[in-house]
Amino acid sequence: MVSGTGDVPMKIRRVIFEKFNDPNLRFTNDEVFEMLRADGLESSLTIDDMEPHFKQLREEGLIRPIAQNFTTQWFKIFDTVKRYSCKSCGQEVYLGRLEPRVCPNPQCKAAL
Ligand SMILES: [Zn+2]
Repeated sequence: MVSGTGDVPMKIRRVIFEKFNDPNLRFTNDEVFEMLRADGLESSLTIDDMEPHFKQLREEGLIRPIAQNFTTQWFKIFDTVKRYSCKSCGQEVYLGRLEPRVCPNPQCKAAL
């Protein structure tokens, strides 16, 4: 098994790039979670397990919270998200334009 939960933020980044790559768009943690589930996210994980990952993406500067209603959180991205091929780890990674150009793969962290 490749993944602990370390790559969940990487997967969330990809969903945002593919589905919500517009700074004017709002999206919820629930929508992202459903897409991750449809994409084969480990079924034991719940929306509550996503909380620290969304928090991490807020701290990294990809997304900002807009509103919250019980467990549903609305977010927007700060700026459009771009895909990079990281030469160090060989992964496709996704970074907001305002984020530092550093690979978000926790095992890599190379400059992009
Ligand atoms: Zn990398």
